[in-house]
Amino acid sequence: MMQNFQGMARRLVDKLAAEGISDKRVLQVIETTPRHLFMPESLAHKAYENTALPIGSGQTISQPLMVASMTQLLTQHHCKRVLEIGTGSGYQTAVLAQLVEQVFSVERIAELQYHAKRRLKKLDLHNISMRHGDGWQGWASKAPFDGIIVTAAASDIPTALMQQLADGGVLIIPVGTTQQRLYVIRRFGDDFEQKQLADVKFVPLVPGALL
Ligand code: SAH
Repeated sequence: MMQNFQGMARRLVDKLAAEGISDKRVLQVIETTPRHLFMPESLAHKAYENTALPIGSGQTISQPLMVASMTQLLTQHHCKRVLEIGTGSGYQTAVLAQLVEQVFSVERIAELQYHAKRRLKKLDLHNISMRHGDGWQGWASKAPFDGIIVTAAASDIPTALMQQLADGGVLIIPVGTTQQRLYVIRRFGDDFEQKQLADVKFVPLVPGALL
């Protein structure tokens, strides 16, 4: 059914470009990544619409425009080693893996992680390391990271993630509960520069240990 996803993917990418995504490499990767493989088959016909969709366990695959914007922020900062918090479907992971050297991804729900891992392997993406754990802690043994991207909304900025940034590194994170905003935090030595971008809507970054 989806053999010909590329026509739909091209139209999606045209929309993203019209919305202000200008990095040609990011657009190219989104155009060629089969998003329909990252969701239940019953939703695959909606895969190239610019919307978030449910992926089970009460979670969602992020909206393509959000994936593109957050990815573009990382490519603008020339990130090589990137930590993702919230693997979910693995779609954002797949996009990143085609644009940076190494992706590290942490997910707290084992079931989602299992499926994400299988999909990424099937797509022959091998520069990805995955960990089942609590994203609030980051992944200390693999730090420092040039970029950290959080794909769930945090009530506060997790200190561990700030500590795991390389000098000059950038943390992209939705912050807030009912009202959320995308923050971009850059590290300069012991100083952190913080910018607030658009209002956003993500599932919550669940506090604390595993279920
Ligand atoms: N990038 C994913 C987004 C999935 S939604 C995609 O596009 O498919 C956010 C994900 O963050 C969910 O899978 C959720 O289980 C995960 N998550 C929430 N709180 C977490 C935490 N504390 N540690 C790790 N992962 C978490």
